[in-house]
Amino acid sequence: MFKSLRIRLAVTYSLIIILTILAVDFLILNNYYLSLLDERKITFFTYGSMVSDAASDNYHDPLSINNILEDFTNTTGARYLLINTESQVLADSMSRLQGEYITNPQIRNGLKGNEACGIYDDGRRVMQIAVPVKTGTRGNLEVIGIILLSTGIDDLYANYTDVRWQVAIISILAGVSGVMVSFIASYSLSNPIKKLIGFSRRLSGGHLGETVTLPRKDEIGRLADTINFMSLELHKIETNRRKFIGNVSHELKTPLASIKALVESLLIGENLSGKAREFLRDVVNEVDRLSSLIKGLLTYTRLEEERLHRETLMVSEIVRNTVKIMAPLAQSHNVTIENIVKEKIRVPCDKNLFKEMLVNLLDNSIKYRDMQKAENRIVLSDHADKNLYRINISDNGIGISEENLPLIFEGFFRGELSRSKDIEGYGMGLTIVKKIADLHKWNIRVDSKLGIGTTFTIDIPLNS
Ligand code: ADP
Repeated sequence: MFKSLRIRLAVTYSLIIILTILAVDFLILNNYYLSLLDERKITFFTYGSMVSDAASDNYHDPLSINNILEDFTNTTGARYLLINTESQVLADSMSRLQGEYITNPQIRNGLKGNEACGIYDDGRRVMQIAVPVKTGTRGNLEVIGIILLSTGIDDLYANYTDVRWQVAIISILAGVSGVMVSFIASYSLSNPIKKLIGFSRRLSGGHLGETVTLPRKDEIGRLADTINFMSLELHKIETNRRKFIGNVSHELKTPLASIKALVESLLIGENLSGKAREFLRDVVNEVDRLSSLIKGLLTYTRLEEERLHRETLMVSEIVRNTVKIMAPLAQSHNVTIENIVKEKIRVPCDKNLFKEMLVNLLDNSIKYRDMQKAENRIVLSDHADKNLYRINISDNGIGISEENLPLIFEGFFRGELSRSKDIEGYGMGLTIVKKIADLHKWNIRVDSKLGIGTTFTIDIPLNS
């Protein structure tokens, strides 16, 4: 239900806090009410015992007993009844129940010789206490009646309600602060994790060698250190790999140039058979192919070490110049280039690399034109809003299959059509394009449909 760790943690902390507050409130309030009742019980048991002793001494003197009960009512506010073993009321401090037979659990318990207490609520809360009246000597006491005492406890309940309100207000304040603290705590836990996720995404996007700073010494801090270490190690490995490719490519350049020069001088010779001449031409072609592969590899490895020579330049101008350079090649393949880039936008960029990027994209659009179509067109367009400048390079060429789309920026990837149609290439062009975009911190993506055409979109963030 809660997908984000932050919300899940915050809700869990909040629930724990709220449930704890509720449990503590219940215990405190319950104990408080019970202790109020206990205090009242003890006081009135004491009064009951005093009345019981006085009643025992004056059991056969109804007048004195009535006086005693009335005196106690006046001083304690409770009502006192003297009840005999037949449950008949012998005296009532309120003079209402004399002669009546009454019973209830307290009376029955009292008549068995026990002290008893009960609480009733019939609109008014009343505590009833029964204290046996005994006569005889110690060890041989006989129950001759009980004193039944009733006292209102609404005041206790009002006191309890007051405290309950105070506790409720304090609990609400504590609960709200607890929930706020939970959200802050879960934010401080999930925020660095979010940062690490973003950083890991950058690493997987090829930004090796970068590090993330998290000023923490806990497990998350250690995880950040580990990821940083991994990033630096991967960067070292990647740099060595590139250096190796760069060195090998470089070493191959000279012998290839010599082979080409030697074969070309052989071709100048006149006493060569037709077959030998044909083979030697094939050798020159293959050497040319190898040389352009090595050129691609060298460009790619050079890009890794490249520092951008940034200048703030008008994009439309660079596009116009590049289109001018590519126009003859396009024309020779019957491809029209339409340049409708119109925005007067200046962006910081490396002019040569940006040109190289456009040349590769245009070159691909020309190479992968659709021979079946009457007209092959490439359209360069742009659009700018407040934060983003977007350039589109669209063609109506052979297109790229859906399963190949995620792979085309990978080194040495070539579509099946490029291979089967024998179109020249090594799968390095788009890798270079992507690398140049990454170096500028631009984004490049592709949309394509087989048989319909391909659009490359370069997103250039403005104000960054
Ligand atoms: P290369 O062109 O040398 O094969 P790239 O890296 O430039 O290498 O392109 C990789 C693959 O992407 C190509 O082999 C081709 O299948 C596909 N591709 C690139 N651009 C286009 C395009 N404009 N139209 C159709 N397919 C393309």
